[in-house]
Amino acid sequence: MDSRTFRNAMGTFATGITIITTEIDGEVSGMTANAFMSVSLDPKLVLISIDKKAKMLEKIQKTKKYGISILSSDQLQESMNFAGQIKEKIDVDFDRVGDMPVLKGALLNLSCNLADIHEAGDHILFIGEVMEMKINEGDPLLYFGGKYRNLVMNESLAH
Ligand code: FAD
Repeated sequence: MDSRTFRNAMGTFATGITIITTEIDGEVSGMTANAFMSVSLDPKLVLISIDKKAKMLEKIQKTKKYGISILSSDQLQESMNFAGQIKEKIDVDFDRVGDMPVLKGALLNLSCNLADIHEAGDHILFIGEVMEMKINEGDPLLYFGGKYRNLVMNESLAH
């Protein structure tokens, strides 16, 4: 099985999209990530997986804290910007939750303290303890089959 086939296969798992943010000496950095999951309620832990080649890796290892913003359906440009998919600069509106920079207009903002790190192949898994959060209204930006998507039917299938 080659990497492309594996990547396509994993793309059958529909996800939301997050922007991971951190701040060093007043300078905010962000990157797009869909490898995110909720892990534990007590304590409140969430996991992200970051490529060893990403610049964000060293930054989080240094700050040991970061923000996670779950994007809303009108934040496609933000996702593309923080994935390096567009050349032109866009104006990004940051907010603060706890002492972390996060994206304004996201569905959810979390501020996390780094709790644990696991090496996993060519990625590093960061487990963060959620210190504060801000929940907003809206629909999610989704990712499925290597493409950005919106919800077309915003209704639940079972109650
Ligand atoms: P850079 O490449 O330096 O930064 C990324 C981009 O963000 C640059 O274009 C930069 O200009 C912009 N940027 C940074 N800070 C700011 C700021 N303050 N204001 C405005 N713009 C800013 N990779 C993973 O490791 N894990 C994942 O789970 C993951 N999921 C992804 C999901 C999707 C849908 C996509 C499209 C990509 C995903 N990636 C993931 C890839 C990852 O987003 C890119 O490789 C990204 O470019 C890595 O960023 P970097 O830390 O190397 O920083």
